[in-house]
Amino acid sequence: RHAAEIARWNGPGTTADGVPVAILANVQDGISARKASTAPVEGIGLFRTELAFLDRATEPTVDEQTAIYREVLEAFPGGKVVIRTLDAGSDKPLQFADQGVEANPALGVRGLRIATGSPGLLTHQLDAIAAAAAATGESPWVMAPMVATAAEARDFAALCRDRGLTPGVMVEVPAAALLAPAILAEVDFVSIGTNDLTQYTMAADRMSSELAALTDPWQPAVLRLIEMVGRAGGDANKPVGVCGEAAADPVLACVLVGLGVTSLSGAPTSSATVGARLADADLAHCRAAAAAALATADPIAAREAAAAALSG
Ligand code: PEP
Ligand code: MG
Repeated sequence: RHAAEIARWNGPGTTADGVPVAILANVQDGISARKASTAPVEGIGLFRTELAFLDRATEPTVDEQTAIYREVLEAFPGGKVVIRTLDAGSDKPLQFADQGVEANPALGVRGLRIATGSPGLLTHQLDAIAAAAAATGESPWVMAPMVATAAEARDFAALCRDRGLTPGVMVEVPAAALLAPAILAEVDFVSIGTNDLTQYTMAADRMSSELAALTDPWQPAVLRLIEMVGRAGGDANKPVGVCGEAAADPVLACVLVGLGVTSLSGAPTSSATVGARLADADLAHCRAAAAAALATADPIAAREAAAAALSG
């Protein structure tokens, strides 16, 4: 597409044949949410709440948290906002959720797992989200990071529903992708975190530049796991988002839609490029691109095959 057409693209997100695919933003606080509201996005697909508290030595009070969540909700009145509960640990250390020295922090007590030893961290946060929802009249969706089992999804969903919140979980661990039907039976939606799903599928640290060829979301093994989640979402008739960096690659975005993904959340700066590319591809071409990528055994070939199928 011509650069001027991309710059003009202003949503809403759909394929060329009108299948809606929400184009959403990843944000980290009120300021970034207000900035995102000036981009062509329909809402927030990932609010990384831990990033709002990186400088805090102690747990923020429920009132302090409520004020921040309100700011984010107020940036998109009536729009979709997905708030992720604290994803502390490994690459995002939070002082007040510190687990001490762990031999393998990426495989340690991180994300939702922290709530087992410190349940208050999760319940206070859910109380604050519910208070922000009540104060603004908005209906945020809430999702947990690093879920590996259906039981974790069930327990998290119960805490959300007790507070009138719509529960979902992130699919970032291969186990969650493999058991997507069982997990989707517990929650109202899932969102695939392709950064961690790739890290854990390929057993390659997402922070390592030396391993960049392995931590590539075009790896066909990762695409196969995404296909399983997309199919499970279609069978359950529940939304399947992607909120990792993969959602910012316009060709991969079309493949993801072909795999059954129903919303794409990324940096607001990529939304126009992704939206414009998707508006050029009908669902049949997205599905053909997905099938072509899945038929390969390496990431470079997958991307080439998908691009060829999209332009065919
Ligand atoms: C991911 O893992 O893809 C994701 C969206 O979460 P984060 O990057 O914050 O770990
Ligand atoms: Mg993650």
